[in-house]
Amino acid sequence: MIEAGSSEFTIQKSIDLKPFNSLAISVIAQHFCGVENITQLKMALSFAKTNNLKITPIGGGSNLVLAGDIDGLVIHIDLKGVFAEAISKTQVDIKFAAGENWHAMVGYCLENQWYGLENLALIPGNMGAAPIQNIGAYGVELCDFLQSVEVINLATAEVETLSARDCQFGYRTSVFKQSAKDRYIILSVTLRLSTVAQVNSEYPSLKAILQSSEPTPKDIYQSVCKIRRDKLPDPAQIPNVGSFFKNPIIASEIADALAVDYPELPIYPHTESTSKVSAAWLIEHCGFKGYRKGNVGVHHNQALVLVNYQGNGEDILVLADEIMSKVFQKFSVRLELEPRVYGVPD
Ligand SMILES: Cc1cc2nc3c(=O)[nH]c(=O)nc-3n(C[C@H](O)[C@H](O)[C@H](O)COP(=O)(O)OP(=O)(O)OC[C@H]3O[C@@H](n4cnc5c(N)ncnc54)[C@H](O)[C@@H]3O)c2cc1C
Repeated sequence: MIEAGSSEFTIQKSIDLKPFNSLAISVIAQHFCGVENITQLKMALSFAKTNNLKITPIGGGSNLVLAGDIDGLVIHIDLKGVFAEAISKTQVDIKFAAGENWHAMVGYCLENQWYGLENLALIPGNMGAAPIQNIGAYGVELCDFLQSVEVINLATAEVETLSARDCQFGYRTSVFKQSAKDRYIILSVTLRLSTVAQVNSEYPSLKAILQSSEPTPKDIYQSVCKIRRDKLPDPAQIPNVGSFFKNPIIASEIADALAVDYPELPIYPHTESTSKVSAAWLIEHCGFKGYRKGNVGVHHNQALVLVNYQGNGEDILVLADEIMSKVFQKFSVRLELEPRVYGVPD
């Protein structure tokens, strides 16, 4: 037992991570603790340093593939708190602690008339993980609002503040997945929202179900929740991590050539020279929608979502490999995994 002021927490050994990941995969964490404040986090980091343990932070566990036991110390980041500061008559900065639940905070902001996050309703997981892959949905991304991220640097145990520019956000990526991978634990995220209703209703499937031509932020929030509930399997019922693959970004001339052979393939402009193509379409057109391979499979309504019936991380990765190979064989397009894989040798 480690004491941290009036609070105390335990570092446990050999903990099954099944309750901590939305694929419900059972693997053992060599050491595990949950931290509710920075004092506890610093003590956990010091324990890891003394015992030469690798650190794996987790939030809601909705974007992890656990392919084997996890060496070192898994830290469940459970810091709570929200602090709002008016910036002008129309803008407010809100600092959310990393352990706050994302969807609950989207609802909380809407109640407080702080607008902007409605399109990102119902994304599972916690605030601290949101910058890792720059979460996005229905035409909006976290980076549209992000002001700064407060982190603890694992090398120095110092708290630092990173600007949006430091985070190097891209499509489902950031510095935290690239050059600063495993360098920081995120403590809080500050977003700049609007106190004046502003909506983004341009995303085709969202536009299609909106009843009004002048939707309110609440209309957007409710419509996004409806679409997601209709389309995506709830991990509590059918274990999954949401989209298993990113939409591939390819050179526009390759996309144009694909469009000639496959006129129905959804292709979206990305940069001047690149285009984004629908991974779900490519997977579905290799015949994988609803495919089952032993204890894992591809969801019957959503080809991007791999589901775990009773398998393990290895089963999921074997299926993912099969899908990637078939897609490459048929379309010469390489798929890339969206979730982070743990428990395989580096
Ligand atoms: C049904 C479903 C639908 C989804 N839909 C979407 C979607 O529409 N758009 C989208 O972008 N994503 C989506 N996702 C993916 C997922 O919701 C996001 O990636 C989310 O941000 C993960 O949050 P988490 O707290 O569960 O992170 P975890 O799964 O716990 O962790 C994910 C990664 O972040 C790291 N991490 C977590 N917390 C911290 C921290 N405080 N500091 C440093 N590193 C940390 C972990 O080490 C890990 O590498 C979906 C997932 C599911 C299951």
